[in-house]
Amino acid sequence: MSTVSTVNGGISFWYANKGTPTPREPLPGDTSADVCIVGGGYTGLWTAYYLKKAVPFLNITVLEAKFCGYGASGRNGGWLYNGIAGRDRYAKLHGHDAAVRLQKAMNDTVGEVIRVADEENIDADIHHGGVLEIAHTPAQLARLKDFHSVEIAFGETDRVLRGARETAERIRVSGAVGSTWTPHGARLHPAKLVTGLAAAVEALGVTIHESTPVTEIKPKHAVTPYGTVRAPYVLRCTEGFTAGLKGHKRTWLPMNSSMIVTEPLPAALWDTIGWDGRETLGDMAHAYVYAQRTADDRIALGGRGVPYRYASATDNDGRTQPATVEALRDLLVRFFPTTAGTRIDHAWSGVLGVPRDWCATVTLDRSTGLGWAGGYVGSGVATANLAARTLRDLIQQDSGQAGPTEFTTLPWVNHKVRRWEPEPLRWLGVHALYAAYRTADRREAASSSLATDPLAKAADRISGRH
Ligand SMILES: Cc1cc2nc3c(=O)[nH]c(=O)nc-3n(C[C@H](O)[C@H](O)[C@H](O)COP(=O)(O)OP(=O)(O)OC[C@H]3O[C@@H](n4cnc5c(N)ncnc54)[C@H](O)[C@@H]3O)c2cc1C
Repeated sequence: MSTVSTVNGGISFWYANKGTPTPREPLPGDTSADVCIVGGGYTGLWTAYYLKKAVPFLNITVLEAKFCGYGASGRNGGWLYNGIAGRDRYAKLHGHDAAVRLQKAMNDTVGEVIRVADEENIDADIHHGGVLEIAHTPAQLARLKDFHSVEIAFGETDRVLRGARETAERIRVSGAVGSTWTPHGARLHPAKLVTGLAAAVEALGVTIHESTPVTEIKPKHAVTPYGTVRAPYVLRCTEGFTAGLKGHKRTWLPMNSSMIVTEPLPAALWDTIGWDGRETLGDMAHAYVYAQRTADDRIALGGRGVPYRYASATDNDGRTQPATVEALRDLLVRFFPTTAGTRIDHAWSGVLGVPRDWCATVTLDRSTGLGWAGGYVGSGVATANLAARTLRDLIQQDSGQAGPTEFTTLPWVNHKVRRWEPEPLRWLGVHALYAAYRTADRREAASSSLATDPLAKAADRISGRH
């Protein structure tokens, strides 16, 4: 298999597949709004959507540096699922029951996104097939069984554990020794969702300015080269790009995730793989893999690759390192050996936001009117929707239009976390972390031990991940 003809970058395959949107007008000059939202990804757009639906007369302005869906929301693996970064830490901080409430809200969020997409006629290739996570090694199988029990303890009574043979009946992943499946997940086309959502938000009467980078956010102000938007509420929804804002260099670390997509596979090849249920597919490696079978019968597969660029830099329009493309191609063939001769049509990368304690948060500072949501690590497709409904409720509560709700009292609301270390510590730390995870994955693959490799455990502890 060759990657010579592979397109690298161009934001993502999802845009090559559907076309990039025509840009909206930039901010024409100084103006005011009731709510100013910085960032036109899922977080910013869902927030605009729910606020405008709740209070139709609100004057809402979204400011987007490039175009809506330029970031992770237009580049991701299309797993709409119920995972949320930090749940286990929230259980330690606020008690098990509070974390169960958070988990149940996430479970419901999958259905909520599907409901609104349907109501707004957004065709995002959604297929509600659940999430299947597989184990390849004895240590991964032990972790998978632990993970399965923990998820049940957090209220997922509909989760199913499968042995090697039952797993192979659904999908033939080479060397898979077991899997866990949950119905709380769906496959989607990320860019179709985000561009459809932007159109729905605009149709409701929200103003969106694109090609408008915000350079600084301060109470009641969002400053851009074209003018300043003054608003009682200014919401930062910039996830992996947050380090580019004045004063936020060390707030959330921009972690890379990279993907490849194959050419459409012929029916005869699908016969060797199965995957008729089109579940989103992942594994239990420390440097884990995530994949989907697309609506046009390709495999899109992602993983960590080179994890972080020095000084919190981000990629150039999704271009990823050739070594990462090769590593992902090798993983694809390891999972599905019959794809060895398959062309890789596209490779790309994007950034996700990682807080120092790996916990997603949603916050409204009532004294300044500044709000933000993010730090989703790798699980933001559904989480951004829950964050948005929570920001809506926090703003309504603050402005006296409503009291506390089921969302405003969830344990991730107003969580505080310290900042990342300065460079070069940040770069050294993240690279050492992922080198340790890759070594741990290799050692576990060569071992019959059920125990997680000590290097991975140490890396989890030192990084603050667990
Ligand atoms: C390759 C990849 C695969 C992933 N796969 C999955 C998955 O399968 N499932 C899952 O749950 N999660 C996944 N994620 C994570 C998920 O995509 C994100 O968590 C989610 O899209 C975050 O949405 P957001 O709106 O907060 O951020 P983004 O989508 O990144 O949007 C932020 C927006 O803000 C704009 N912006 C940034 N700075 C400024 C500024 N200064 N002024 C104005 N605008 C600005 C950006 O241009 C961007 O459009 C993946 C991420 C990546 C990168």
